[in-house]
Amino acid sequence: MRLFRADSPIQYVRGVGPRRAEWFAQHDLRTIGDLLDFFPTRYVTQGGPFAIENLQPGMTARILADVLKIRHRPTSLVVLVHDGTDAIQLRWFQPPPIAEALRPGMRVSAEGRVQEFDDRIEMIQPLVEFVPEGGAAGNEKSVIVGVYPGVAEKQQPRIRDVVATVLAQSRLPIAECVPPPLLARRRLMSRHDAVRAMHAPKDMRQADHARRSLAYEEFLLIELAMMMRRAKRVSIQTAPRIHLTPEIDQRIRKRFPFELTSAQNGAIREIGHDLQAGRPMTRLLQGDVGCGKTVVALYACLAAIASGFQAAIMAPTEILASQHFAKIEQYLAGSRVRRALLRGAGSRADRAAGLAKIDRGEIDLVVGTHALIQKDVAFQNLALVVVDEQHRFGVLQRHAFRSKGPTPHYLVMTATPIPRTLSMTVFGDLDVSTIRSSPPGRGKVHTRVITPDDWQRELELVRARIDSGEQVYVVCPRIGAGEEEENSAAREPRAFAEKSDAPIGAVKMAETLQAGPFRGLPLAVLHGRMTQAEKDRIMREFAAGKIRALVSTTIVEVGVDVPNATIMVIENAERYGLSQLHQLRGRVCRGVRDGLCLLVRRDRGEAAGPRLQVMTRTLDGFRIAEEDLKLRGPGELFGTKQHGLPELHMGDLAMDFPLVEAARDDAAAIVRDDPQLKKPPHQALLAGLRKMFGEKLALIDAA
Ligand code: ADP
Ligand code: MG
Repeated sequence: MRLFRADSPIQYVRGVGPRRAEWFAQHDLRTIGDLLDFFPTRYVTQGGPFAIENLQPGMTARILADVLKIRHRPTSLVVLVHDGTDAIQLRWFQPPPIAEALRPGMRVSAEGRVQEFDDRIEMIQPLVEFVPEGGAAGNEKSVIVGVYPGVAEKQQPRIRDVVATVLAQSRLPIAECVPPPLLARRRLMSRHDAVRAMHAPKDMRQADHARRSLAYEEFLLIELAMMMRRAKRVSIQTAPRIHLTPEIDQRIRKRFPFELTSAQNGAIREIGHDLQAGRPMTRLLQGDVGCGKTVVALYACLAAIASGFQAAIMAPTEILASQHFAKIEQYLAGSRVRRALLRGAGSRADRAAGLAKIDRGEIDLVVGTHALIQKDVAFQNLALVVVDEQHRFGVLQRHAFRSKGPTPHYLVMTATPIPRTLSMTVFGDLDVSTIRSSPPGRGKVHTRVITPDDWQRELELVRARIDSGEQVYVVCPRIGAGEEEENSAAREPRAFAEKSDAPIGAVKMAETLQAGPFRGLPLAVLHGRMTQAEKDRIMREFAAGKIRALVSTTIVEVGVDVPNATIMVIENAERYGLSQLHQLRGRVCRGVRDGLCLLVRRDRGEAAGPRLQVMTRTLDGFRIAEEDLKLRGPGELFGTKQHGLPELHMGDLAMDFPLVEAARDDAAAIVRDDPQLKKPPHQALLAGLRKMFGEKLALIDAA
């Protein structure tokens, strides 16, 4: 038998001619290496016992057979058995007592891996049990076989056959990657054993062990790449040193009409530590809407300003920028901090005057939108940039702020809690501060799932609350009939909209409400097609209470604080990710009063029910995000498929948290010991990184 190498063409395998090779090539499988890396995505059991004549090398199977002959060889015990279809040798290198006790004529059940040996097949180290005279197998066990993705069911045996033939080679052409001591410590399989077990597991436990072993390797490489990138960044850049003395700390705290919560203080400690270190901070500050992130960010800005630097806060929309600015004006009333709101709109002369002051360092704190990073904006000595990404955090990117000083510190605020597996992988090169609890005295939101049958009655009840002074948001996935969904996370393809149960557009919903339960109520529609001026006007009137019901698309998600708006009705709730629903309902717990959130479930698809129920059970954004990750995967969690998500082949971000954590610890230890992976035991890792990141590895070297 020829020895397979990783680069041997599949055609080398016995029984694979040019036509079969062509079929494999269509599945992108050209070499033995390709084939070994092509893993089953699930397994099915096939019944046993197997007729000996049907056994294939590589498979793990059980047979029921009679003992014919016993041979004691120098290094092994060989027992020939026969089942009426054919004979096979059972071989043990270290025979257990039960094997030693075998005698001709006995009936046994034997289960083990079938391998090719000297042009014959053998079962190696099988588990045997005696079967009483004439007795059939007691508990019938079955074999597990892999199901290969993208391969038609009829073709599965074809690929299994070929894989089995390759696996029969005792030493597979597989390069190890993870240093063996790490594998031993984590009780994981070598790549060699794991690959074998992925294709032909003895049982499901072994299949899982194999998958976890390969997933660990994948996570380890990702963590290494992240850490090397970060180490590089930290080593080549210096950042302004911001000194936080107790006096400065006291002075900043006096600006807030409340005590900071311990969660806020925790975040401030972490940020303060970074700001003094002289290396650029890149930190994610996460926590539910209203938990007090902006206050923490402002604290950091004031610390930077106290050290003589400038700070900037960038918001995703003009409305939010204005809102941040108005809030800051309240906190800073009477302070010497020179501050400005830089608008994209507005007169040119105003803007030019503002820019000149920023350039000369005559403004300490600037709030704005992306207008802040336009070419004409240059800072004198910018030390800290705060980016409020609200829910759009998937687009995390370093923004090009221009400053004459060193690289500024960078703090990103997000209200979408990021499950820890993701913050360690996707965002692994960021530090993360988390605010887990909100300031005391907040109202809660009661959430209920209702069906279209309850709709009229429920909306009448909502009407009663509006009449007694509250305000309501009604959120729809689309603007009008037949229009594109405004919600980027809505998952159904366009075809869905053509069905009769297409989601109701905001415009139509407004009419329906106005003609029904909301008769005579001041009501307005808000959506992304309106001009900024129109949107601003409507938001102002809603905030002032002149508009009582706001029917909108998801653009309210990043909307303004209206403490009196305590009710939210979300139409076609089944179309949103849980994290997005959580974001939306965050709008209605801004005041002291308890909020109400009604999720209208219009699609009766079976998955929607239990998923939406999660919303009624918890207000913990982290639990919701974890649940979302489990149910819809990371791409969905972020709304759209974002670049930057690593393409995982073996790892599962929803369930592999312990592995990610282990990989992160191990990667940290490796990088501490050998930051550039120059030591001999780490060469295999470096090769693994090259294989995984290819060209992009240069980024790690250079960035
Ligand atoms: P986020 O940015 O996380 O949405 P903010 O910082 O805007 O939260 O705070 C939300 C509201 O809570 C604001 O009105 C703010 O004044 C208030 N707030 C923040 N921190 C505290 C605190 N420690 N105690 C009481 N109220 C607070
Ligand atoms: Mg906020």
